[in-house]
Amino acid sequence: MQTRSFEQGLQLVIAMLSGLEKRPDLRADNHVLQRITQLGKLARKPGAEEDLSVREAFQAGEPSTTEAADRATGEPGKREKRADPQTFEELRTRVLACTKCPHLVAFRHTVVFGVGNPAADLMFVGEAPGADEDMQGEPFVGRAGELLTKIIQTMGFQRSDVYIANVLKCRPDIPPGTSGNRQPTPAEMQTCLPYLREQIELIQPKVMVALGATAMRGLFGKTEPMKDMRGRWHSFNSIPVMATFHPSYLLRNQAMTEKRKVWEDMLQVLERLGHRISDRQRNYFLR
Ligand code: SF4
Repeated sequence: MQTRSFEQGLQLVIAMLSGLEKRPDLRADNHVLQRITQLGKLARKPGAEEDLSVREAFQAGEPSTTEAADRATGEPGKREKRADPQTFEELRTRVLACTKCPHLVAFRHTVVFGVGNPAADLMFVGEAPGADEDMQGEPFVGRAGELLTKIIQTMGFQRSDVYIANVLKCRPDIPPGTSGNRQPTPAEMQTCLPYLREQIELIQPKVMVALGATAMRGLFGKTEPMKDMRGRWHSFNSIPVMATFHPSYLLRNQAMTEKRKVWEDMLQVLERLGHRISDRQRNYFLR
């Protein structure tokens, strides 16, 4: 009975705090709101924190809550770093109006600029928008995007803590009447790369992650097989870049060994960022 009363009381507090979130005259720190959301999930599903393993998070649709709120705050110094909002918005406005590639302009629904925290310490770079991203105007929102979100959460962040962008900002065109996505050409990536460079200069991430071989080709011009490039540090304008498999590769290849490889790359990223890694995290995807 006591447990029930406690849960009811907790729900009341959560409802009250969630109501405050919607009031335009009040402002709350984003991390506090995320914590409230997580508390709500735990209250609705007792024991959820224990049940949600990262394996499930990579495989199913449930977000990992493990240390997410604590990690989300990052280092104290992080909050001091701010990309000039006006300059960042000016860049966004310029990119959204870009017509440098007429064949992509004719095909695209939206320009996919990027999403996340312009003051992020960690930035993910993919290759180009697919059909879902083109419709929604946000990178990594399809199935591969959902998996990337799980990876980010498993690392202890929320999507809003990091910055996510592509080398190419417009969806590569495909012949009429066909479906699917195509890889961007080197020429297309070369044309669009200055925008990514500007984003990186403004965000000044401490660490970047290149997702897949095409992103590596766009950033560095490297054409080696991904298996030779992943798990190693590369340098883009003096910023360390970890190369890892694209999430779509993990969707095609569900082997535990491949998930472990990506996870080991992310452990290196966490170490480089100076984040504490729990024993539990270190052992994910080990048999
Ligand atoms: S792909 Fe990049 S350079 Fe080409 S039109 Fe789109 S935003 Fe402009």
